[in-house]
Amino acid sequence: MPPTDPEADDSAAATDAAAATDAAAATDSGTDADVDANAGAGEDRFDVPVRGVDVDPETRCAHYRSDVDVVAFRFACCDAYFPCFRCHAETTAHDAVPWPRDRFDEPAVLCGACGETLAPTAYLAADDACPACGAAFNPGCRAHHDRYFEA
Ligand SMILES: [Zn+2]
Ligand SMILES: [Zn+2]
Ligand SMILES: [Zn+2]
Repeated sequence: MPPTDPEADDSAAATDAAAATDAAAATDSGTDADVDANAGAGEDRFDVPVRGVDVDPETRCAHYRSDVDVVAFRFACCDAYFPCFRCHAETTAHDAVPWPRDRFDEPAVLCGACGETLAPTAYLAADDACPACGAAFNPGCRAHHDRYFEA
């Protein structure tokens, strides 16, 4: 009787190939901040409506452009501020209605330097300078303030 050969035990080692995980590279989409250049008009700088001819960011206009011409006046007919009466005449088709005397405690003067609005009583008492920022106002405006304020 031949001895039985021991059977060779073949153990197959299974090798699992580790699945390589490719990290997907996230692509950053750079957002360029577009600077919207407001075309010239200074009107947008203020909280109140300002109209006129060639109004600059400090409410100078085509008619009054000196350093101290930084005041705009509110007209009751339009309920908007204009740098001067000529601006009103050239941009509207009606006679200007000055700010009524019984509303002199309401804001009706705009400082173009700082954007503060003043009641006519405060403006007329302010000695030709802005009470809020100190900007000098054109004393000449006072000479014809009956165009802006009801006499
Ligand atoms: Zn008007
Ligand atoms: Zn003007
Ligand atoms: Zn001011």
